Amino acid sequence: MNKILIVEDEKNMVTGLKFNLEARDYSVIAAYDGEAGYRMAIDEKPDLVLLDLMLPKLNGYEVCKLLKKEMPDLPIIMLTAKSQEAEIVTGLELGADDYITKPFSVLELLARIRALSRRVKKGTEEEGVHRFGNLEINVKKYYARKKGEPIKLLPREYELLRLFIERQGEIISREELLKKIWGYDSFPDTRTVDAHIAKLRRKIEDRPEEPKLIITVHGIGYKFL
Ligand code: CA
Repeated sequence: MNKILIVEDEKNMVTGLKFNLEARDYSVIAAYDGEAGYRMAIDEKPDLVLLDLMLPKLNGYEVCKLLKKEMPDLPIIMLTAKSQEAEIVTGLELGADDYITKPFSVLELLARIRALSRRVKKGTEEEGVHRFGNLEINVKKYYARKKGEPIKLLPREYELLRLFIERQGEIISREELLKKIWGYDSFPDTRTVDAHIAKLRRKIEDRPEEPKLIITVHGIGYKFL
């Protein structure tokens, strides 16, 4: 978390922030309007963005919305004026991770940056987590949630999902699933696979009769998404 992009049209503000952040070993880049800020974020891939709300060309909301679409993991702290406090909610709804109200002290800003860095670090430690709509699966720690509620999956169902996720979009034949998940010497019957898939669908699909995650490819096998 060392490279910080400041998107702010008040030049004095940028100069002050840059000076203070660089003094603490952050590397700082700056853009003075929303459009340039958006492009700089895409090109330079900063670790964090300080984003002013009222900006020429694209305002802070629009930049935030665009960036969260392109780079969902990029942490954004909104810089807002006291009078804009009512609008902060909008910023947070658009995906901003935090906000700070002007005028703020450098120490307060640094504390926010550090807190956000810790949160982001924790997030990337969530290795093995996959999200598909309202479904969350951790194929390493063996837990799954649907609409936030834990669901019970059998070890073999995790293995199936792990294989499907690894090869998302690819058609996997029943024979291959049988071989990889059940092993050579168990029931040599592809109907076993179909029965297990049907059961798994009842657990993870919104409407098992119209599956959107595990798709049947007739005469061949299955495809995930
Ligand atoms: Ca401004």
